[in-house]
Amino acid sequence: TTGTTGTDAATDRSAALQERAARVIPGGVNSPVRAFGSVGGTPRFLVSGTGPCVTDADGNEYVDLVAAWGPALLGHAHPPVIDAVQRAAAAGLGFGASAPGEAELAEKIIARVPAVERLRLVSTGTEATMTAIRLARGATGRPLLIKFAGHYHGHSDGLLAEAGSGLATLSLPGSAGVTPETAGQTLVLPYNDLAALEAVFAEHGDRIAGIIAEAAACNMGVLPPEPGFTAAMIELAHRHGALVILDEVLTGFRASAAGYWGIESAGVADGVQPDLFTFGKVVGGGLPLAAVGGRVELMEQLAPLGPVYQAGTLSGNPVAVAAGLATLRGADDAAYARLSAASERLSGAVGAALSTAGVPHRVQRAGTLFSVLFGDFAEAPRTYAEVQRQEAFRYRAFFHAMLDGGVNLPPSAFEAWFVTAAHDDAALSRIEEVLPAAAAAAAAARP
Ligand code: PLP
Repeated sequence: TTGTTGTDAATDRSAALQERAARVIPGGVNSPVRAFGSVGGTPRFLVSGTGPCVTDADGNEYVDLVAAWGPALLGHAHPPVIDAVQRAAAAGLGFGASAPGEAELAEKIIARVPAVERLRLVSTGTEATMTAIRLARGATGRPLLIKFAGHYHGHSDGLLAEAGSGLATLSLPGSAGVTPETAGQTLVLPYNDLAALEAVFAEHGDRIAGIIAEAAACNMGVLPPEPGFTAAMIELAHRHGALVILDEVLTGFRASAAGYWGIESAGVADGVQPDLFTFGKVVGGGLPLAAVGGRVELMEQLAPLGPVYQAGTLSGNPVAVAAGLATLRGADDAAYARLSAASERLSGAVGAALSTAGVPHRVQRAGTLFSVLFGDFAEAPRTYAEVQRQEAFRYRAFFHAMLDGGVNLPPSAFEAWFVTAAHDDAALSRIEEVLPAAAAAAAAARP
């Protein structure tokens, strides 16, 4: 079908595929959020996508607001990206030797983020943050890492940590299988809380290798840093000889052409710069590619020049590099203008529909990224603890009404909504048509 699906749209094939998958894959999924655990219902198996739309195994078409969790900046199956991938694939899928495109991609990233002087390509955001942390520890010779509650940096052991009972307490495992010793190397603090950071540096300062932070938090819904917080965090870390890793895996080349730091750095004194950056998602254009970058003297601590080991069979894979290059080439001013206009129009329309239906909510923004918090938030939330008060039961109802109406939202209230540069008037109008019914469903929802 084309056009929106009805509430009685068939999902038989998706249901059968999920049943089959669950017999051989834990939960039927290769990444947990895909199982629809927090919204319930049948996860849709998606078989194709074009521009702003995706199609499921039953032939239902949806306007997509997931964008592969970020990479599809230019829309699905964007012809120049597909063309570049097909050409690269035809020349061979990779040789485990250097190829010309790797330096070109590094140059393109460095040109957009001046604080990055050298870059190493890896395959996933998890690898990028893992490498950045090893580098921070290797360069400082210190053991401890600070992260913020609600920030996500992938699934490496040391990052699956939860705050202990006191602020300056070393953390506890955030997953089975993570040892207390490993979790204890991480300190988890509330976001946007400079006093908490100062207290921890006062107590553990000479043992802290660095701080890792999302450039703007986007994995607890969108929750940007308060004005001045990131710069103050960098200055504090540097006063104590610690490094700052700014994680732009999600925000990079999406929040703006130069990521979220590209927006923030405009108002910051020269010399106040994060030491390391991590990128992913958009830089791989939909294929497995991510990167870690930073100042020369830090990056040259990596093997083969320095003592910090890092490697990868698939690192800098030519097909992934081709997808990344084609995506960054297409991510020009016009593309960001479309992305920004789509984000403004859609977030405005969602807010208006929810207000009309009497649903308390708050639209949260970070550059072109946004998400919607359901619940009464008169004041902007600053921390994970604050956003956890949201009325996720309203999101569940809203999500399913949108899905039934042909709009694919992230299957969790704690995610950013992703538009693409391909969300044109027709796509946005289709979403707007479904909003009143979804807002009514959210209004009627009960916990
Ligand atoms: N860092 C951030 C900010 C992310 O949003 C993610 C993934 O969503 C990661 C790191 C991990 O990236 P990956 O899923 O490619 O391992």
